[in-house]
Amino acid sequence: MTSGYGSEVELRRGLVRFGRGLSRLGFMPGTSGNLSVRLDEERILATPTGRSKALLRSDEMVVVDPEGRQLAGSLRVTSEIGMHLAIYRMRPDAIAVIHSHPPIATGFACSGRPLDEPLCSEAVMTLGVVPLAPYATTGTDDLAASLEPLIPEHSAILLANHGAVTFGGDLLDAYLKMETVEHFAHICLVAHQLGSRRPLEGRAVDQLREARERYLANVH
Ligand SMILES: [Zn+2]
Repeated sequence: MTSGYGSEVELRRGLVRFGRGLSRLGFMPGTSGNLSVRLDEERILATPTGRSKALLRSDEMVVVDPEGRQLAGSLRVTSEIGMHLAIYRMRPDAIAVIHSHPPIATGFACSGRPLDEPLCSEAVMTLGVVPLAPYATTGTDDLAASLEPLIPEHSAILLANHGAVTFGGDLLDAYLKMETVEHFAHICLVAHQLGSRRPLEGRAVDQLREARERYLANVH
């Protein structure tokens, strides 16, 4: 079946491919992390709960409606589907959502620190500020609620004491943002360890923000 976002076969393969990629990066250890993508206006394809994303097969994916009711698939959908659905509800431009536990970015999230210091010019341009959502128990409605104030203005968010979520115009876009969040966190960590970090200043940050606006205008 073909949707406006790609054929279902391709999207199932995409979840497998990017799940494996994130596993290889060490962002989805054990059975953690989850991915989803819109099939059409009424259906979302998502990874099931309790499975290693390194071993997942395309026929094990689950289809849910925008309220999270399961429409297809023999396994149960990820228990963290609520945060994906909140993003799809609030951001019609979000076609794919990825949640993972990249170790350095999660270290920042476990230390109560957003990635908001303008240390690295490309990160300011591509990600902007990566805010920190307050702690909420995984698998509950509180998790989606903790993200809601941040969803309209951001497409990469840290989850306190938990991990990170990114979303974008397709699975590749969400994947690249997740990779960039971890890379930026790594650079911030090294800059802090070196002890003499030099954040970019006002005019440089303004210019990068303007470049970001132009970049986003071209993407959409
Ligand atoms: Zn998680």
